[in-house]
Amino acid sequence: MQHGEFDIAIVGGGSAGFAAAIKGAELGARVALVEAGTLGGTCVNVGCVPSKTLIRAAEAQHRRVHHGFRGVSTSDGRPAWPTVRAEKDALVAELRQTKYWNVLRAYPSITLFQERASLVSGHQVRLASGRTVTAGKIVVTTGASPWAPPIPGLAEAGYLDNASAMALEHLPESLIVIGASSVGLELAQMFARLGARVTVLEALPRVVPAEDADIGNALGDYLRSEGLEVHTDIQIDRVGRSRDGYAVQFCAGREPRTARADQLLVATGRRANSTGFGLEGIGVTLGKKGEIVVNDFLQTTSADIYAAGDVIGDPMFVYVAAHGGALAAENALTEHGRRYDLSALPKVTFTDPAVASVGLTEDQARAQEIEPLTSKLPLEHVPRALAARDTRGFIKLVADSATQKIIGAHILAAEAGEMITEPALAIKFGLTIEDVTSAFHPYLTLSEGIKLAAQAFTKDVGKLSCCAA
Ligand SMILES: Cc1cc2nc3c(=O)[nH]c(=O)nc-3n(C[C@H](O)[C@H](O)[C@H](O)COP(=O)(O)OP(=O)(O)OC[C@H]3O[C@@H](n4cnc5c(N)ncnc54)[C@H](O)[C@@H]3O)c2cc1C
Repeated sequence: MQHGEFDIAIVGGGSAGFAAAIKGAELGARVALVEAGTLGGTCVNVGCVPSKTLIRAAEAQHRRVHHGFRGVSTSDGRPAWPTVRAEKDALVAELRQTKYWNVLRAYPSITLFQERASLVSGHQVRLASGRTVTAGKIVVTTGASPWAPPIPGLAEAGYLDNASAMALEHLPESLIVIGASSVGLELAQMFARLGARVTVLEALPRVVPAEDADIGNALGDYLRSEGLEVHTDIQIDRVGRSRDGYAVQFCAGREPRTARADQLLVATGRRANSTGFGLEGIGVTLGKKGEIVVNDFLQTTSADIYAAGDVIGDPMFVYVAAHGGALAAENALTEHGRRYDLSALPKVTFTDPAVASVGLTEDQARAQEIEPLTSKLPLEHVPRALAARDTRGFIKLVADSATQKIIGAHILAAEAGEMITEPALAIKFGLTIEDVTSAFHPYLTLSEGIKLAAQAFTKDVGKLSCCAA
């Protein structure tokens, strides 16, 4: 591993970069970690952590009035946003400290440089201070940034992204959200539950367009029933801003409409941070959306440079970034040649009800020439949902009719994210419908719904007694 001052240099100190640095240290390497912004990157500072704690706060606010229990009093009232926001900031600061700064101290062989890096070659990283760091291998983990489509008037009007929306000084009275994938929908429902009048605009035919169609249709209806105005299959013509706020002109079918609000949030995806720091000049190929092109081992088209995390494009999740970061460092430093395998990858959208999915939809199965068996269990058959007075949603399982193996799960339910790992394991280890139905599932848990949904392939679950037996 002797090649200059360091064995490995990691550019970007987010989740992928940290995982790469730790793996490098565990393998006995001398590691340079370069971070231009706030240590920890997107997830802890402006992504997963602040959004999920604010979503929980908004849910608590919502449940003051909206719960299914007659006899339990309700109490209305506006949330104290400055306190809610300050609590979120405190949690972010705490986790940044314990999960990033303190972790770094535990690995003396990692040297942190807090400045912007440019790549000069496969072995040289130039820092903003002028210093050049030399290393045997380089791992690029520079993440992604919010991307906005070229809508006329949008750039001039200005808009919020995930970071600025969660840092707003005042809760908006009204908010337009452009984009109804995970980030847009999570924040839309959060602001609605905190009291804003929210309009969601989505160009594709459904919300969460990458998910099973039944889920998108049902979730759109649940959000509408909660008071959000949700428009799908629309085309935005222009964004304007005056002293009265924002006006977004759009067409729904042929009908011209205008949405108005105090604030505008654009959540139309994220694009790789891959330009402006030398990659182009040293043989690293970028894809159509600017993502770094890598092979199955996370090696770029420049042999000594590896890449991982959001900078290599979709799927952009923190657990994928961390997995990739560690794997890229291991492959860069050893001959292990571990393959980057994202099969059986579970995904969660933290709306309420939440969306969680893994594996194939029925249509995707057919496209792969698999004849699918499908079971769809409405939540009103799950005792936990009945007891909680919240039967919104359903569990859909997809199996291969030839082998009876589970090949997909698509869940719309409160806490769907807590249910998805079982089907993910089933898919990963090739379990059959019978394997799932024969396993114990504790009574009065939502995960019992997975067993019921598996039973529903062959049985009328309405005729089962207690405990899905
Ligand atoms: C609102 C929101 C909510 C999310 N919620 C979830 C969730 O609930 N669950 C989930 O799994 N994922 C979630 N994600 C996605 C998750 O945050 C990202 O997938 C993950 O943080 C990506 O990690 P990364 O290390 O690839 O990039 P980042 O964390 O973005 O790190 C990249 C780092 O590189 C640094 N950098 C860039 N260029 C340079 C340079 N030239 N020199 C030095 N440093 C540089 C940047 O400053 C940054 O700190 C969410 C994202 C958003 C926006």
